[in-house]
Amino acid sequence: FDTLTQLPNRRMFLDRLAHDMLKSQRDRSRIAVLFIDLDHFKEVNDTLGHQQGDVLLIDAARRISACVRKSDTVARLGGDEFTVILTELEAADQVERIAQAILDRLRQPFDLGPEQAFVSASIGITLYPDDALDIDDLLKHADQAMYAAKGAGRNRYSYFTPTLQVAALNRMRLTSDLRGALKSQQFALYFQPIVHLGSGAIHKAEALIRWNHPQRGLVSPLEFIPLAEASGLIVDIGEWVFHESARWVQRWRQQVHSEFQVSLNQSPLEFQREGSSYQGWLAHLQSLALPGQSLVVEITEGLLLDASSAVSNRLLQLRDAGIQVALDDFGTGYSSLSYLKKFDIDYLKIDRSFTRNLAPDSSDMALSEAIIVMAHKLGLKVIAEGVETPEQRDLLAAAGCDYGQGYLFAKPMPADQFDAFLRD
Ligand code: C2E
Ligand code: CA
Ligand code: CA
Ligand code: CA
Repeated sequence: FDTLTQLPNRRMFLDRLAHDMLKSQRDRSRIAVLFIDLDHFKEVNDTLGHQQGDVLLIDAARRISACVRKSDTVARLGGDEFTVILTELEAADQVERIAQAILDRLRQPFDLGPEQAFVSASIGITLYPDDALDIDDLLKHADQAMYAAKGAGRNRYSYFTPTLQVAALNRMRLTSDLRGALKSQQFALYFQPIVHLGSGAIHKAEALIRWNHPQRGLVSPLEFIPLAEASGLIVDIGEWVFHESARWVQRWRQQVHSEFQVSLNQSPLEFQREGSSYQGWLAHLQSLALPGQSLVVEITEGLLLDASSAVSNRLLQLRDAGIQVALDDFGTGYSSLSYLKKFDIDYLKIDRSFTRNLAPDSSDMALSEAIIVMAHKLGLKVIAEGVETPEQRDLLAAAGCDYGQGYLFAKPMPADQFDAFLRD
């Protein structure tokens, strides 16, 4: 095939699958369905453009096809998702060998004109008739397994397991509980101090949400924020976090320090939401006689790779409102310092995976030092996350890091407790 449209589409794939399932019933053989999703394709597509993106997809389809046998089917469901049907499976490790071969081939660089691009893939695998007897269930399982592969860190394959199904059911239940959580006041905002390393002063804190589930107890934001995003509930939750943050920062500005700042987190979806603006926030802050600088919005660096204007518009809106911006989890993603210059960011938060490995003369130490020097040259202040030991604090201070945050100073605590902590 020369163009993407020559690959079997969804309908052809479903016909083929039904046919293969019938055949497998007749000769009692087994088939496998693979869902393949390219990791990081969107970044390539956004950076190099659709045409190069399509070239990559065509090449990816070729590479996948080269890994399978004649009797197998490779189809494209749309976007950067491919499916494969492997028929008449014999040896147990046959599926794994093919899946691994696909992963290996997709890891090779893609030549796109003058540029080279790298992607990887996440593959979900489900077996017929073992995992399900029905086409819809089979596809659902392959999809769940693919998300499990992504969740486990990408560039890997994952089999469907009944545990995955339990997890999916669990997510559905939690999502429906989440709908009532705001109304029943099950959320609490915790605060963790951000400490000035030179003086030990605490004039900043990060707001971290907690969900106190009536049956399950505290549910981690790492678990429920993705559900809130997927269901759209993130918008109301984010508004609640903002109003609580504003209420507390007003108090701390009056009673603790006139320039107290509270940082709040915005997930990528929340930040990029169309049609939103910070006008409402600004008006609310004004009604509390608070300047924009009372707040810092923490976003993750992956957002800055988005070449669309949505992200830079949102950043400009923040700038107009006087609200500051921190780049969270720095060092875990693409870490391109050039983005920092382009986007006018106020704080850089070094991820705790760096802080954890800090030791004199270690490579993480050298990297942290370099990051701090560059950040300062670009006019950013640096906050190190996950400071747990006095040694880490001292190394960071020696490297010129401005602020530290972590269990060494205090764990996140409920707002009233933090209020008392500030007064000690
Ligand atoms: P994050 O923004 O990277 O927040 C820092 C996380 O590190 C927090 O986890 C905090 O409790 C934890 N932490 C702080 N100091 C230490 C330390 O010394 N050692 C270790 N091991 N961990 C430390 P938490 O509160 O569970 O939050 C997890 C993530 O959930 C946050 O990561 C943030 O991405 C997200 N999140 C939290 N609150 C909100 C919110 O209101 N809105 C949104 N959109 N996301 C939120
Ligand atoms: Ca993808
Ligand atoms: Ca954060
Ligand atoms: Ca972080």
